[in-house]
Amino acid sequence: MHFVEVILPLSLAKTFTYSVSEAEYNYIKKGMRLAVPFGKSKIYTALAIELHQNEPTLYEAKEIHQILDEKPLVNEIQITHWQWIASYYMCAIGDVYRGAMPSALLLESETIISQKQSGFVDESQLSDEEFLIFEALQHQSSLKIQDVMAILDKKNIFPVIQKLVDKNILALQEEMLENYTPKLVRYVRLHSKYESDSGLNELLDTLKNANKQKEVVLSYFQLSASEKRPITVKKLIETSNSTSTVVKTLIDKKIFEEYHLQVDRVNFTGKIKEEELQLSDAQQAAFENIKQNFDQKEVCLLHGVTASGKTEIYIKLIEEYIATGNQVLYLLPEIALTTQLVGRLREYFGNKVAVFHSKYTNNERVEVWRQVIDKSPKAQIVIGARSALFLPFSNLGLIVIDEEHEQTFKQVDPAPRYHARDASIVLANSHKAKVLLGSATPSIETFFNAQSGKYGLVEITERYGKVRMPEIELVDLKDKYFRKKMSGHFSDVLIDNITSALSLGEQVILFQNRRGYSPIVECITCGHVPQCQQCDVSLTYHKHKNQLRCHYCGYSMAKPTNCHACSSVDLITKGFGTEQIQQELVELFPNSKIGRMDQDTTRGKFGFEKIIDSFKNREIDILVGTQMLAKGLDFDNVSLVGIMNADNMLYHPDFRAFERSYQMMTQVSGRSGRSEKQGKVVIQTYNPNHNTIQQVTNNDFLGMYKEQLYDRKIYYYPPYYRLIKLTLKHRDFEKLKEGSMWLYQVMKQNLAMPVLGPEEPAISRIRNEYIRTIMIKIPQNTSIGGTKKTIQKILNSFESVSQYRAIRVTVNVDFY
Ligand code: ADP
Ligand code: ZN
Ligand code: ZN
Repeated sequence: MHFVEVILPLSLAKTFTYSVSEAEYNYIKKGMRLAVPFGKSKIYTALAIELHQNEPTLYEAKEIHQILDEKPLVNEIQITHWQWIASYYMCAIGDVYRGAMPSALLLESETIISQKQSGFVDESQLSDEEFLIFEALQHQSSLKIQDVMAILDKKNIFPVIQKLVDKNILALQEEMLENYTPKLVRYVRLHSKYESDSGLNELLDTLKNANKQKEVVLSYFQLSASEKRPITVKKLIETSNSTSTVVKTLIDKKIFEEYHLQVDRVNFTGKIKEEELQLSDAQQAAFENIKQNFDQKEVCLLHGVTASGKTEIYIKLIEEYIATGNQVLYLLPEIALTTQLVGRLREYFGNKVAVFHSKYTNNERVEVWRQVIDKSPKAQIVIGARSALFLPFSNLGLIVIDEEHEQTFKQVDPAPRYHARDASIVLANSHKAKVLLGSATPSIETFFNAQSGKYGLVEITERYGKVRMPEIELVDLKDKYFRKKMSGHFSDVLIDNITSALSLGEQVILFQNRRGYSPIVECITCGHVPQCQQCDVSLTYHKHKNQLRCHYCGYSMAKPTNCHACSSVDLITKGFGTEQIQQELVELFPNSKIGRMDQDTTRGKFGFEKIIDSFKNREIDILVGTQMLAKGLDFDNVSLVGIMNADNMLYHPDFRAFERSYQMMTQVSGRSGRSEKQGKVVIQTYNPNHNTIQQVTNNDFLGMYKEQLYDRKIYYYPPYYRLIKLTLKHRDFEKLKEGSMWLYQVMKQNLAMPVLGPEEPAISRIRNEYIRTIMIKIPQNTSIGGTKKTIQKILNSFESVSQYRAIRVTVNVDFY
């Protein structure tokens, strides 16, 4: 008897045993995929993790349908790592498997396939079976895998489908088909025949009688002497005070050549070339220091102020690792940031850089997966958001985690609710690889580990090019309102600073925190505010669509003309979001171009990239935005950052509120004055003397850290305690209340540590489900493994109580 042990891509904690023939037994290797039947009629792509001869005792082992791979697609390091994730984050191994693999590699009987819209299909290249499926899709827009089984009259169809996916003919559901191509910008350069000095004289001679053209050519020389970067047509016209017609004439005369480049490439053309990337003394010292740390330690924190040039240090380090044949993983907190970074790294490493994240198409993800497992040089460096951590690396040398403090590294939903930074450190351990964490505002946890000597610590306190840190000015809103120095939400100080930045041709960023300041509609007569019917939140007012919307479930309605409670027509809008600020700006600065970056404007495909591009291209003078602006963006012409209201971040009911406020304000401020001139930051607040605001103003990270650490200790929070948050959901309010009380009491009796709750969260109902939470605080010196076992046991018995079975419980370990 021969058996194979497999993981199924379902939320099941167990592995399953299937029977195989002796030939199959000898062929299958751990990490190969198998098509297996499950339940009455379903077929799934399972992963082989063990071959053995132990017949299962509880059920009769079914036979597998088919072996899908010729060699393993997943390696043993991954399997071990996934098992660690399942156990540490208290979720099913099937959840990890499902979350880790590109969905194109997980075909199942429910998968829906359709034909790709793009491209010509050469039917003669298709096998008979492939052709049958292709033909069926000419009559029907989509097919279920089960339909395909009927068409081909057999069960073993995954390989055929896989071939069609690989041939780029089939698309699987939920696919995104386009890729973002950054916008092209128009540049000019002098025709090569005029490059010599004599050529230049000759040129000026020919233009003797064409003054306007001569002006443009002279401006060109001026510009190319002062700027090291390529010259855009736009800039040339501005500087020479000329017109595009004149420039066109020069191009037609073959005096200028025009060419087009992608914006994010250009930034580095001529600025950093392989032989030119010279680290500054401070960067070089940090670089050496990191390497020394790596002699002793697995993990090192690079704490460098904003614009200290951390990216260039990563590049130098990556260079050394790939030179010895190692693979490198570079994790970013936000998919939208990859476009910027990939440009920077490709400039340096050429085609050794691959990108992997969930917004890529299935094909691209499968391709990178296969490149990584084949150790292809094309994927020697992989850049990605957190899920890139699951790729089949076999000889990782280095993991870089940029902006390590970002909470987006923690997956919230669905399981596995892992933290990519922490899971990376565990992964690196299996590869004997090193981990470099980088941030201008490290998380308290990471800095604590660096201080205690667990991680190495390297600091850079100056900006690249010795540019000074931005000057921060606090504006006291109470005083400004009292003295009537406010226009809408803008203080006179902020307006003056914007005016002078704009007059110098510099750009401005204005930051408005999203939390708590969504505009609402309120009835003046009775005070009623329209609420979402399914969620416990007020509806947000969207002016441009004249709509009220729920940000939790997407429900929307037209803005009412009278109050639903008392029928009064006296309704006002309250609160201010980015949209309102944009509106006020239009009135204050009618001649400036104003852009907005928030959930609404970046929702569409590449919305984020488009806004970044036009800001970089200087098509926008003032950019208003939320959170997203605080993430590692590099703009070279921004000299002013305004924070509209610092207070709504500070008073968020969350133990990390001050830490996050510090990080957010410091990061946004860090977008100012990055390249030459010292930048300016204006922070508007009702609490200019608040400790956190003072710490931001004085760039006092250590002060913030010490204060917060003290609070964490007395209030039982990380890094002194580990948090496990249980979330319970059900449609029946009473049942949920009872069930969560039961669970809380049993936890409390069985765990010798603080257990809090059951709490009704600030938003206690979403999509008609009520919510309660229970928080468990595990002290540092208590065994986390043992505690989790107890918790799991209690959860199991909770599930066996029949009246509570319908209550859904999710577990979030190291809740962020
Ligand atoms: P950080 O990630 O620390 O905020 P960046 O790596 O984005 O900073 O660097 C800030 C700016 O300084 C970038 O525009 C970058 O091109 C430039 N820069 C940093 N180091 C160098 C260097 N060694 N040579 C040339 N330019 C550099
Ligand atoms: Zn009313
Ligand atoms: Zn809702």
